[in-house]
Amino acid sequence: MRIDIMTLFPDTVGDMMSESILGRAQDRGYIRIETHQIRDYTVNKQNQVDDYPYGGGRGAVMQADPLYRCWAHICSLTQAKPHTIFLSPCGKVYKQEDAKRLATLENIILVCGHYEGIDQRFIDECVDEELSIGDFVLTGGEIPAMAIADSVCRLVPGVLPDAECFEDESHWNGTLEYPQYSRPAVWHEREVPPVLLSGNHAEIAKWRRKQSLLRTRARRPDMFEKLEFESKADRKLRKELDEE
Ligand code: SAM
Repeated sequence: MRIDIMTLFPDTVGDMMSESILGRAQDRGYIRIETHQIRDYTVNKQNQVDDYPYGGGRGAVMQADPLYRCWAHICSLTQAKPHTIFLSPCGKVYKQEDAKRLATLENIILVCGHYEGIDQRFIDECVDEELSIGDFVLTGGEIPAMAIADSVCRLVPGVLPDAECFEDESHWNGTLEYPQYSRPAVWHEREVPPVLLSGNHAEIAKWRRKQSLLRTRARRPDMFEKLEFESKADRKLRKELDEE
């Protein structure tokens, strides 16, 4: 998979994306993340990428032309028309389901806005979807782009040691993860739940599933309501939860 990020801060984004697991995955060729300075695609002396908003009002809007030139250059590099995402608080709120969907694509372009946003005509001409990382407003699209790139890349085969690493995690199957513990067994007089030290894998799995359901019900009743208790063991656990 190749992800191209259009931004006014390519070094910051590039550095962040080259750390740790994603850095190693790039070195090993599982993913490729390229950043592009939108300013390099301006045709004015000041390399200005923004101008005043038509209709008046405060702030500046990123102009369509430098964005388009940058986007067209990436299309020529990838010899494709990559799925193009504009990070925007007006977009659909991003979920793990979107990460799964995007992880199946070969090429993605992430467009980071700044100031008041970007000229609508670039969106109309080049953007396939707008995604938001939540109902709040940031100063730029860089953090959302990095969040999306990170969550997508970790699902690409080879990036993590195996699929269990993410299939067992929060949001994969509509639940939140159970509590995790590591050594020592007692810390500040707080003990690790004894079942985790028992070596009984079936009991540990049952305990984890129950904790996961308890946590989901307590913290995300909206997710809990949508769960389907298909297996016999799950239906039994559901009954236990209802009786507690
Ligand atoms: N004027 C815009 C509005 O009211 O919708 C907000 C612009 S914001 C200050 C600048 C840029 O940050 C946006 O163009 C977008 O790329 C990014 N951004 C801000 N909040 C975001 C969010 N919740 N999700 C995704 N991108 C966001």
